[in-house]
Amino acid sequence: MHTAPMPLPVVRTEGSRIFLADGRVLIDGIASWWTACHGYNHPHIRAAVAEQLEAMPHVMFGGLGHEPAYRLATRLAGLMPDGLERVFFTDSGSVAVEVAMKIAVQARLNRGERGRTKFLAFRGGYHGDTLGTMAVCDPEEGMHALFAGLLPEQVIAPLPRDDASRAEFDAVLERHAPGLAGIIVEPLVQGAGGMVFHDATVLRHLRDAADRYGLTLIFDEIFTGFGRTGAMFAHRTAGVAPDIVTLSKALTGGTSPLAATIAHRDLFDAFRSDDPAKALMHGPTFMANPLGCAAANASLDLFETEDRLGQAGRIEARLRAGLEPCRSMPGVVDVRVMGAIGVVQLDAIENPAALRARLVERGVWIRPFRDIVYLTPALTIADDELDALIGAIGAVLARAAA
Ligand SMILES: *Cc1c(COP(=O)(O)O)cnc(C)c1O
Repeated sequence: MHTAPMPLPVVRTEGSRIFLADGRVLIDGIASWWTACHGYNHPHIRAAVAEQLEAMPHVMFGGLGHEPAYRLATRLAGLMPDGLERVFFTDSGSVAVEVAMKIAVQARLNRGERGRTKFLAFRGGYHGDTLGTMAVCDPEEGMHALFAGLLPEQVIAPLPRDDASRAEFDAVLERHAPGLAGIIVEPLVQGAGGMVFHDATVLRHLRDAADRYGLTLIFDEIFTGFGRTGAMFAHRTAGVAPDIVTLSKALTGGTSPLAATIAHRDLFDAFRSDDPAKALMHGPTFMANPLGCAAANASLDLFETEDRLGQAGRIEARLRAGLEPCRSMPGVVDVRVMGAIGVVQLDAIENPAALRARLVERGVWIRPFRDIVYLTPALTIADDELDALIGAIGAVLARAAA
């Protein structure tokens, strides 16, 4: 193991820049784990949050409600496929996934259908760090063996990408279907699992499978949502409608923690808020935090008034052209780009912290992990900033090879 470097103290952020306490300024290549899609400190979001802070920073959402949440729920539902119109707000992505899983299971229980409590999830998948979500992560990354006995046991299959994996997926599904409540997948991109892409045929296969066995199909769009793959949501690009979508990460433009679980009305109809035994068994303290909802509404305003998806398309073209030369560098096994995601995959990265430090020396904040060096910049990043990020990757990889 390598010792972890000390965190770099940050005093300020602005646009795609991170200002360090020692006076250095870094260009941000990953938008704080893909959250700051409009860049940091966008004035429109700041103004909305400041106004909300004056009126009401928070109020409990049990028995009370507020306009910022209702407005946000209506707007999110308007962006979803037909029927996905019931929105549940929580405060982190992991919890949004937990809620999605609980909705899928409890809807069946409420309808008197017992014994269908498990999920089929995928190798290479990532859905969060809580116990319930770890169990549907990649078994090695999620350390299922280490936590055996603590984590619920789930069914893990390969993504059905080709004939062999389709056959394996179909066999696993058939064997386990009677005990399954649903299938959970990150559509088009497995993010934290290494930025691995798949195409719409995979998702169509999952939709067909879910329909055949009566399973709830959950698309975890926490990474892919809000323009990251080039469309507003990955399910749009793919043309496949799930039964539940989870959102977080860029939901508030990276301003504050908020997450949403959006379910089809057919699932919602299985719940009864007037019957404690049939109400959804979840109620986080900071549910629908008004500051978060105000930030998220302001973020959606920006998607409407500024051409974010056009910017994602321009980033895609620049990443393709800029990262392509890395392909011929020694140690590079793949270069891939989808929307505002650019990935250089290596044989292996011996020491990610050392590589990161060399990138910081070049004035960029990029965080290599596993075997990849990747860019997921703010959609508003300037061309020269993006070029600086791409250039830094090329330079450190060339030097590493030398
Ligand atoms: C980040 C992420 C999560 C977990 O979100 P947290 O807010 O970190 O709990 C879940 N699913 C996907 C696809 C993610 O990228």
